[in-house]
Amino acid sequence: MTTVPFLKRAREAHKVVVLTGAGVSVASGLKPYRGPGGLWTTNSELASRVVAGVDAEILWTVTCDWRKELANAQPNAAHSALVAFERNLTTRGGAFTLITQNVDGLHTKAGSLNVIEFHGTLKRSRCAAACGAAPYIDERDEGPVPTCERCGAPVRPDIVLFNEVIGAHEDWTAKRALRDADLFVAIGTSGTVSPASNFVRSAAYAGAHTVLMNLEAPDSAPFTEVIRGEAQTLVPELFA
Ligand SMILES: [Zn+2]
Repeated sequence: MTTVPFLKRAREAHKVVVLTGAGVSVASGLKPYRGPGGLWTTNSELASRVVAGVDAEILWTVTCDWRKELANAQPNAAHSALVAFERNLTTRGGAFTLITQNVDGLHTKAGSLNVIEFHGTLKRSRCAAACGAAPYIDERDEGPVPTCERCGAPVRPDIVLFNEVIGAHEDWTAKRALRDADLFVAIGTSGTVSPASNFVRSAAYAGAHTVLMNLEAPDSAPFTEVIRGEAQTLVPELFA
């Protein structure tokens, strides 16, 4: 229930935080994680191959598969609309923070500037032994597991695996943005699991209007407003 239309609210907001999930990348040809056709639902063993402590070769095989899929994926209308919205908002003196759970790098590719890649990105690799060598851009998608030039340990994608902790920088910058937000919008994510479920509580505590935009809406989402639809349709309309 809401009295102010979203379009007007978005145009008048000053500090906007957007959280995006897999639903935003579906129109770019990438699979969602859950639901019909989702990565975890169509391949029941896949989740066990991207979990903390998994064998380096197993993880590298998944990484190569995902990088091959990503190589041809282009940002869609939802990504582009968020780029334009950020530009307009910052031009009028507002602040925009885009937190994404996606590891596909498409927001950055589209041109979004203030992006927090909460779960890391497949576009980078890093030393699996965390020897201190800096993560680096890496598009390799075949061959044996590369090794760290500094310490010789296997290399892995710079993403957060199941049972791993979110990066301190990502966690801190996300929380700081939410603390000041007057509008929080979660797009293409169910809104019921972490981090979305925590973010919406933080944003509401800060006094923000909270909105969920997703194809499916849970029965009891802790959002002020729920708008159902596909990201590539809703986002260009509502962030115009
Ligand atoms: Zn190393």
